[in-house]
Amino acid sequence: MDAIVPKAEAAELALFRDTVRRFLGDHVVPHIATWRQAGMVSRAAWREAGRAGLLCASVPAEYGGGGGDFRHEAVIIEELARIGFGDFAIPLHNAIIAPYIVHYGTAAQKRRYLPAMASGEMIAAIAMTEPDAGSDLQAMRTRAVREGDHFVIHGQKTFISNGQLADLVIVAAKTRADAGGKGISLIAVETTAPGFRRGRNLEKIGKHAQDTSELFFDEVRVPAENLLGGVPDQGFVQLMRQLPQERLVIAVGAVAAMEAAVAETIAYTENRRAFGKALFEFQNTRFVLAEAATVARVARVFVDDCIGKLCAGTLDVATAAMAKYWTSDVQGKVIDACQQLFGGYGYMAEYPIAHRYTDARVQRIYGGANEIMKELIARSLGGEKKR
Ligand SMILES: Cc1cc2nc3c(=O)[nH]c(=O)nc-3n(C[C@H](O)[C@H](O)[C@H](O)COP(=O)(O)OP(=O)(O)OC[C@H]3O[C@@H](n4cnc5c(N)ncnc54)[C@H](O)[C@@H]3O)c2cc1C
Repeated sequence: MDAIVPKAEAAELALFRDTVRRFLGDHVVPHIATWRQAGMVSRAAWREAGRAGLLCASVPAEYGGGGGDFRHEAVIIEELARIGFGDFAIPLHNAIIAPYIVHYGTAAQKRRYLPAMASGEMIAAIAMTEPDAGSDLQAMRTRAVREGDHFVIHGQKTFISNGQLADLVIVAAKTRADAGGKGISLIAVETTAPGFRRGRNLEKIGKHAQDTSELFFDEVRVPAENLLGGVPDQGFVQLMRQLPQERLVIAVGAVAAMEAAVAETIAYTENRRAFGKALFEFQNTRFVLAEAATVARVARVFVDDCIGKLCAGTLDVATAAMAKYWTSDVQGKVIDACQQLFGGYGYMAEYPIAHRYTDARVQRIYGGANEIMKELIARSLGGEKKR
């Protein structure tokens, strides 16, 4: 990302990268194995991240944030990918959930949630997906019914990142039952609300320290002022507006993961010997790595361009979808090719490449499945009009 940053801002971003790198080295890397066993990152680490200035990096300073922009979030995403620990869902908290509150929250919502999110006192989750509604969000069944000064929320969500730790959940619910996407609202639910219950911390093939969970809402009563933005039925539009940034978060992580995998594989194959020479000296190894490095470089240029466009407010839905679909697709291929060069060691959990492999797999599924991305891209090509 550094290539696109104007000189004047480069020094500040480089300092921020140093801070992030030091924080991850001191407070995260030593605990990764323990957190994978526990199925989640510790609450203390979230607080420490808050103290170190990693939480809400792009939230305005008046709300306790870092006052930066998406490039600061990109630094955090890149550094987490570099250590191979996307499980720590700071990018979700910072660059996906906080923007909903910054852009749509009322003044009172901003004051209540953003400083607490910036300090790590409140860990945030966003709950859209349901057991029977993932790609097709309009089919969601969770209802929020207005009763006097409250909304009463009833329903169930699944696959919710930060589900076990969350203190604040932005819930997508139907406020008008038969209006499809036009009847969806986003409502802030504090997890102390009676009727809120956490289900299983789901067992996954990767990201073992990310608490991806079921959540249950059994007649949860929340004050009407928790409706995000204060106007009902705006949820779908709010979601659609924020999705390009969410997709770019995934693409930035994909590029950084590829770059790290290539670097790790070069180092490994230079040291590992077979048939009397380093693996790196075999022509196959050299060609595989040459191809992987090329793909990573092309992806980097594209994603950096997208970051520039996002900061300038010109990243469109289709381009963000291209970035999410293509980078996550090639991430899978590049990491698979790199893993092969590790031989049996690449299948061992103690080697980062093994985690990179499972982490890459989910990138094509969440944040909108890649098939949905292709639909969005195709729509922008004019096919809808021609049919
Ligand atoms: C680790 C993890 C973390 C997650 N975190 C969150 C979170 O924090 N909050 C949240 O709300 N959700 C979260 N999700 C959910 C995620 O966004 C959904 O899994 C995803 O949107 C796909 O929905 P689905 O699983 O219901 O699949 P489905 O909608 O059932 O789709 C299954 C497959 O069908 C195909 N398909 C579907 N629709 C179409 C179509 N129109 N055209 C062509 N093919 C299609 C695609 O191949 C798709 O992968 C998370 C998921 C995972 C695995």
